[in-house]
Amino acid sequence: MERRIEIDGWKSGIRFSSCHMLLRHDKCSRLHGHTYCVHLRVTGSVNTDMMLFDFGRAKEVLRGLAGELDHRTIIPTGNEEIGVTSSEDGRNVVVDLGGRTYSIPKEDTILLPIRMSTAEEISRYLLDRFIKEASLGPNITRIELGVDEGMGQGAWSSMDLKAIGAG
Ligand SMILES: [Zn+2]
Repeated sequence: MERRIEIDGWKSGIRFSSCHMLLRHDKCSRLHGHTYCVHLRVTGSVNTDMMLFDFGRAKEVLRGLAGELDHRTIIPTGNEEIGVTSSEDGRNVVVDLGGRTYSIPKEDTILLPIRMSTAEEISRYLLDRFIKEASLGPNITRIELGVDEGMGQGAWSSMDLKAIGAG
């Protein structure tokens, strides 16, 4: 029998507040911020302990990941159209985004291997990290991770773990 557990990021307090800017977007190309939250769905079968995956463990991993992004400016490093370099003194990250240049203290940024700092790309990144860090058992067949950008709108990424041979 297929079972599923869900973590609601708003109700569980798995949130982060971050700045970002998007390339070639009407108003979102200007630096601005959101409060984001992270949702999770885990599908599979229950173990002999009648559990699919421990809620506490899931929330611990998600909180750790959200904490890495919290109160930072998200800089995508996987886009050849977005220049990401270091200032001469090495203290700032310099971002060239479609002719706009930002210089931001390194500790105020988080560099992510994504193409754009959209909710779609952030959810894909967090899904990959969750799968790597959550020590998932072979009973788990599918992971879905959603990132809400403010309340009421969000993007989901999912992975079928059997398809990639991870159990
Ligand atoms: Zn935005």
